[in-house]
Amino acid sequence: MENIADYKEIADIIKAKGGDAFKLCYQCGKCDTVCPWNQLINFSMRKIVRQATFGMSEIEGEDIWRCTTCGKCAKQCPRDVKQVESCVALRRIATEYGVYPASANPIRSIRSGLSSEGNPFSEERKKRADWAEGLSVNTFTEGMEILYFPGCYLSYDPRLKKVAKATASILNKAGVNFGILGIKENCCGESIRKTGDEELFRKLAKENIKTFIAHGVKKILVSSPHCYHTFKNEYPEFMVNFEVVHITQYLFGLINEGRLVFNKEYEKKITYHDPCYLGRHNGIYDEPRKILQKISGIELTEMVDSRENSLCCGGGGGRIWMDTPKGERLSDLRLEQAVATGAKVLVTSCPYCIANFEDSLLSRKDSEAIKIKDITEIIQEVIS
Ligand code: SF4
Ligand code: SF4
Repeated sequence: MENIADYKEIADIIKAKGGDAFKLCYQCGKCDTVCPWNQLINFSMRKIVRQATFGMSEIEGEDIWRCTTCGKCAKQCPRDVKQVESCVALRRIATEYGVYPASANPIRSIRSGLSSEGNPFSEERKKRADWAEGLSVNTFTEGMEILYFPGCYLSYDPRLKKVAKATASILNKAGVNFGILGIKENCCGESIRKTGDEELFRKLAKENIKTFIAHGVKKILVSSPHCYHTFKNEYPEFMVNFEVVHITQYLFGLINEGRLVFNKEYEKKITYHDPCYLGRHNGIYDEPRKILQKISGIELTEMVDSRENSLCCGGGGGRIWMDTPKGERLSDLRLEQAVATGAKVLVTSCPYCIANFEDSLLSRKDSEAIKIKDITEIIQEVIS
C-alpha cells in the first residue's frame, strides 16, 4: 500500500475515480446525522473520506465497506457532495490493490461467479430460466411488447423465484406479450460496481447491451430497483437508451388501462417499505402505494420512517453479499418499525430487501408476527 499512502496521490485517485465532489465538503456533519449506521454504531463516511485523502489507512479497513449507498446523506448535503461516489472511489482503489477486509472477503467469490456464470451465486448459467418451468413464458423475440428481466436473485434464490413466478403469472393474466432472455441474461452489474469493480461492471453491461441490441429489445421490465437504476441511469454511459420500467410502474399502468382487474379482497393491515434504489434514488414512491390502495380490504399504514426518509434494509452497495453480525443489521431495525405499526404484512418491491427482512424475521422470537411479501405476491392472490 506504500505507493498509495501519499496525500496528494490519494486525493488525485479519488478525483480520477469519480469522487471529486468531496473537495466541496465543509465538514458540517449533516450527512452523519442521517446516516442509518449511526443508529447502531459510530460511523462517519465524511471522516473516512477526509482521512483517506490525508493518506490514512482507511482504504485497508472495514469501514469503507459499510456504506449501503442508501443515498440519505446526499439528500441532506448543502454542498451537493456525493458521499456515495467518494466511497465507491475508495473501494475502487481497494479493489485495484486487492485489499479486502474480512467482511468484504465474499466479494472475491462473487466476482468469480459473475465473471464465469453471469450471477453472484456461481450457479450454472444454463439454470437461469429454471424458475419459469411449467409456466407460459417464452424467449424474447423482436416485436414483443416487453422484455422481462428478472435479474439474478429472482432467477436463482429459492425464496425469490416465487416473485418471478408471481410476476409471470400476472403478466399472462393481463395478456402482456412478454419474453425473457433466459441463459443470455447476465447480472446487470449494479452492485459489483458499487463495490469498486468497474472493470467487471463494464464487462457485464457491455454483454447485456450487446444481447439487448441483438434481440431488438426496446422496452425492459425489471423487478429489482437495482437493475432499474443501472439500466436507466448507468447504461446510457455506453451511448444506449432503452425504455426501462419497474414492475410497480408497469402494473399501475395495466390497472389504469383496465388490463389488470382485482377480483378478490385482501383483508389485512399492511405496511410498505420503500427500497432505496426505487425511492430515494429514482423517486418512485406513489405507484406501489396506489396499487395497494386499489386492493379492496387492505389497510395501508406507514412506518415511522417512510418515503424519502425510508430506513435502508442494509443490502445496497454490495452489502447484500457481506457478513453483517447480529446487532449491526439495519434490516432488524426496519423490521421492528414494521412490527410496531401492527401490520400483518411488510410489503416491498426489491429482492435485496426481501432477502434481508426474511433473515431478520428468522432471528426474532415472534417470527409469526409479520409476513414479508413482494407486491407481486399480493397481486397474485387477488387476481386468481
Ligand atoms: S453534509 Fe455535505 S458538506 Fe456537510 S459534512 Fe456532509 S458531505 Fe460535507
Ligand atoms: S449513502 Fe447511506 S449508508 Fe452511505 S454514508 Fe450516506 S447515509 Fe450512510
